[in-house]
Amino acid sequence: MKMFYEKDANVSLIKDKKVAIFGYGSQGHAHALNLKDSGVKNVVVALREGSSSKKKAESEGLKVMSLSDAAAWADVVMVLTPDELQASIYKNHIEQRMRQGTSLAFAHGLNIHFNLINSRKDLDVFMVAPKGPGHLVRSEYQRGGGVPCLMAVHKDSSGKARDLAMSYACAVGGGRSGIIETTFKDECETDLFGEQTVLCGGLVELIKNGFETLTEAGYPPEMAYFETLHEVKLIVDLIYEGGIANMNYSISNTAEYGEYVSGKKIVDSKTKERMKEVLKNIQSGKFTKQWMDECKGGQKNFLKMREELAKHPIEKVGKKLRDLMPWIGKNKLVDKSKN
Ligand code: NAD
Ligand code: MG
Ligand code: MG
Repeated sequence: MKMFYEKDANVSLIKDKKVAIFGYGSQGHAHALNLKDSGVKNVVVALREGSSSKKKAESEGLKVMSLSDAAAWADVVMVLTPDELQASIYKNHIEQRMRQGTSLAFAHGLNIHFNLINSRKDLDVFMVAPKGPGHLVRSEYQRGGGVPCLMAVHKDSSGKARDLAMSYACAVGGGRSGIIETTFKDECETDLFGEQTVLCGGLVELIKNGFETLTEAGYPPEMAYFETLHEVKLIVDLIYEGGIANMNYSISNTAEYGEYVSGKKIVDSKTKERMKEVLKNIQSGKFTKQWMDECKGGQKNFLKMREELAKHPIEKVGKKLRDLMPWIGKNKLVDKSKN
């Protein structure tokens, strides 16, 4: 697999384009601010009427436009609104308004790959998908680095889509840590798989079940919180920095032996079978259909599950303990008043 870096791209191509960032959430704020800091002269944030994000974007010196005006104005429209709203936003504000031969861009392949959006024939369609949460796309860039990006071209009507996509990827910081060229299909399926089984779904269930096992056995919730949630970061930092052996070097031999003998009892071949099932449901479009149906029904189950998680004792004890560790809250990645 070939990786691309700043030296492989014409970084300045994007600087003279009028770029409209649709949405100012996790990815939106990071793309808009990184592009601006990379020297893109005309970056506009496109928001719906009455959006609470307007103040946040303007306080960073960014210009805000309506969705329809921004679509007509832009050379590049980057769609960073929630996935479940992208198809209707495209229909109502983008499709009729983008100028001939301009570019439509995404940070995730779901809407294009599963045909929720059928893009206009004359447009270029590309993707720059940072492989990390938006708040880290911003903070890593500010540290002088960047989050690796996947880049893909779905439609190249102009013959220049790939060059512009590479240039865009560099401007959000991807050219510093590596850009991988892929397809909308592969990005979409691997991204959904990763977040469902390992990064978000798997990890959260692992943490919650560990916490419950200790507290149900009578251990104090504070101890259980430190052991099964707080320490996850300390361990993951070591893995992130130097791989699994690097982490094993730092932990005790006792911990390492326990890892080898007990880990496989927790995540076993049956878990892997179920991972394969999850992957199948993603590939067949079953998951996307289920999620879009959930959205059509007003996200009732989704919001209920969010509420239930918020009530879990690990969230309560966590809040109390984090308030006693003020350094954790300093320079927070997520500051809801700003991003
Ligand atoms: P988000 O939920 O954080 O933010 C969406 C933003 O869209 C809101 O903040 C708001 O400004 C705007 N918005 C909300 N409703 C709107 C409406 N009805 N009309 C117009 N604008 C509206 O979204 P996100 O997590 O940044 O995801 C954006 C895209 O980036 C998605 O395609 C997602 O898959 C992709 N992505 C996200 C991440 C991530 O870190 N969250 C990582 C990689 C790719
Ligand atoms: Mg995702
Ligand atoms: Mg220990």
